[in-house]
Amino acid sequence: MKKNKCIFLDRDGTINVYKGLIYRKEDIELEKDAAKAIKMINNSEYLCVVVSNQPTVARNLCSIEQAWEINERLEELLFEENGVYLDDIFICPHHPDRGYPEENVEYKIECGCRKPKIGMIIDAARKHNIDLSKSYIIGDTTIDIMTGKNAGLSAILVETGLAGNDKIYDVKPDFRATNLFYAVNMILNR
Ligand SMILES: [Zn+2]
Repeated sequence: MKKNKCIFLDRDGTINVYKGLIYRKEDIELEKDAAKAIKMINNSEYLCVVVSNQPTVARNLCSIEQAWEINERLEELLFEENGVYLDDIFICPHHPDRGYPEENVEYKIECGCRKPKIGMIIDAARKHNIDLSKSYIIGDTTIDIMTGKNAGLSAILVETGLAGNDKIYDVKPDFRATNLFYAVNMILNR
């Protein structure tokens, strides 16, 4: 069977406006032309899968159910724009640093899914039969770019959100783009 190609997307700062850690669904606000960009992916041969670190759960800022309600809100906002949809969403609710008084210990673990680890990418690739070597990741942090390198994806850094200024990893993206819309255009016009 022919394998699928996929554009993996980071969530906060890439699809929706960066507002620090998001733990209330009211704080989901789409970036300019993000819905248009994902519509273009929907109309292309690529799948569109979100991979997002959400340590809000481990930090007890919200429950895992509330974390998923935030994703549902995102899907709702996208769908209101011309029926735009995501093929799948993966979140890592974990965080490795224990010892904070308010933490949810169940999720305070060293997991295999927190980006730049590639657990979410591998799960998505199995579930959707994805050829990672023909796939991309688009994100606003060096963590996303590092995830791309670790998983063998081409990586595009966008200038929205943190715009690579987190500087956690010393890693260069394969491409840079103003925002998600330009990044998707770049991929589809190659
Ligand atoms: Zn995890």
